[in-house]
Amino acid sequence: QFPFGRRLPCDIYWHGVSFHDNDIFSGQVNKFPGMTEMVRKITLSRAVRTMQDLFPLEYNFYPRSWILPEEFPLFVDEVRMMKDSDPAWKPTFIVKPDGGCQGDGIYLIKDPSDIRLTGSIQSRPAVVQEYICKPLLVDKLKFDIRLYVLLKSLEPLEIYIAKDGLSRFCTEPYQEPTLKNLHQVFMHLTNYSLNIHSGNFIHSDNVNTGSKRTFSSILCRLSSRGADVKKLWSDIISLVIKTIIALTPELKVYYQSDIPAGKPGPTCFQILGFDILLMKNLKPMLLEVNANPSMRIEHEQELSPGVFENVPSPVDEEVKVAVIRDTLRLVDPQKKKRKDIHDELKIALTINLVTAWHLVVNKESRKSKANIRYNYSVCCRSQTLEHVSEGKEEALEAGPVDGEECEGSRGPEAGLPSLCLKQVFPKYAKQFNYLRLVDRVAALFIRFLGVKGTTKLGPTGFRTFIRNCKLSNSSFSMAAVDILYIDITRRWNSMGIDHKESGMCLQAFVEAFFCLAQKKYKSLPLHEQVASLIDFCEYHLAVLDEKRLVCGRG
Ligand code: ADP
Repeated sequence: QFPFGRRLPCDIYWHGVSFHDNDIFSGQVNKFPGMTEMVRKITLSRAVRTMQDLFPLEYNFYPRSWILPEEFPLFVDEVRMMKDSDPAWKPTFIVKPDGGCQGDGIYLIKDPSDIRLTGSIQSRPAVVQEYICKPLLVDKLKFDIRLYVLLKSLEPLEIYIAKDGLSRFCTEPYQEPTLKNLHQVFMHLTNYSLNIHSGNFIHSDNVNTGSKRTFSSILCRLSSRGADVKKLWSDIISLVIKTIIALTPELKVYYQSDIPAGKPGPTCFQILGFDILLMKNLKPMLLEVNANPSMRIEHEQELSPGVFENVPSPVDEEVKVAVIRDTLRLVDPQKKKRKDIHDELKIALTINLVTAWHLVVNKESRKSKANIRYNYSVCCRSQTLEHVSEGKEEALEAGPVDGEECEGSRGPEAGLPSLCLKQVFPKYAKQFNYLRLVDRVAALFIRFLGVKGTTKLGPTGFRTFIRNCKLSNSSFSMAAVDILYIDITRRWNSMGIDHKESGMCLQAFVEAFFCLAQKKYKSLPLHEQVASLIDFCEYHLAVLDEKRLVCGRG
């Protein structure tokens, strides 16, 4: 801790809240720039909605949501239409203030007209969401899951999921929402910070009981009831990867703005808290992502009225200590150094072997072939010996690199428990890479941002994008390009998300890009239209780069 400021550079910077620090030029920071902004309720809902537009089935793990106040009329219309088409539908909605946490300001409603539109909604934007009425219950109680996810790197994308998490329980038996029970927070909201104030809250020394338990204990219960726990894990992994794929495009825009390519800067990693609700049919639904999940391993206990003491919480300890320990093992700078030395050793060894072989061949060229073979085998034997010592190097870092077991290794991690963090990306990249379309749109956006350090595209940048990608023609003039830019940018800026910079933000660019794709490839489904336009743009930019390279050489 550096209460008076830091003088020397560090290998790892462990920030409490966000990335920001003026003078970090190397090492690793435990926060990504822009992450706090990205996981706010409105931004997350927008990012997931973009993916839902492209891949509705793949992204059906996030409840239908509307952003207030701007989508209030849309919310009213859509609910009316759905009710008209299915009169038996009796929905409940949950209203959550943007940027709120710990259940603060959340309330349930039965009808759009129940939204508290008095002043506050205008000054405090919110998300209104379909309420999941049939959650899975354990001991008649609603609960949610907090899972810890390590985003180890953005480029290339590397994601790890902790093998165990926490289950946080409500403290009143659950009933489906009715006008009478809508306000009962201990029945409907699983937040620890709320339920701790209920007389029914049970602190437990045992990970299998009480109001906060390990997720693995729930899985054991489900498994004994015959549930397909493997499928559940696979669905959860898929939810986590897809959510991060929805967040990465904008994170990359923030990243290049804070850590411009080519300039000295740190790399980043971050532990995220995923809040997931299981439906009765075991389908996991994403509630939210926390950029600063609580890592407390103790709780307050009231010894006598008004006298509190911090006591250890075995459940928190079991899950969180492992997450932090293994994060540090995975980002360990010593391991990187050992890997670099290992790689250098490998190269040096190869060069030595090649030189040795040449020497042998040249020197012995007049001797018999058998002799040469003898010398070569000596050479190879020395190679085998070298390989043994190389093997020793590998054992030093065996295991943790991809989340394998490391017990029994002879390295500095010998004696440590096996990793609780399991790599899921790039391990399962093949199954998910087709979803990464917006990432490629963001790469185009970043290319035309121009001056480093910005997150918004100016009108000239947008025009250059259109020209370089050959998107303007007789039916789409440059005047029409300007109108498209102004229309979309003005609307996004009027939503009042970020007034610091003027210009077109990534989400506005994505909207413009979808518009162009729909125009150009009319009859295809949206994701194919977008994929075709990306291919088209990337092709023209590659041709342009090639031309510039040739000109440069010339
Ligand atoms: P906060 O950041 O304030 O905790 P959340 O989005 O996590 O906000 O919501 C708080 C709690 O409300 C959740 O822990 C969950 O129990 C409940 N909840 C949130 N969204 C839904 C939903 N769509 N359906 C059912 N319950 C929900």
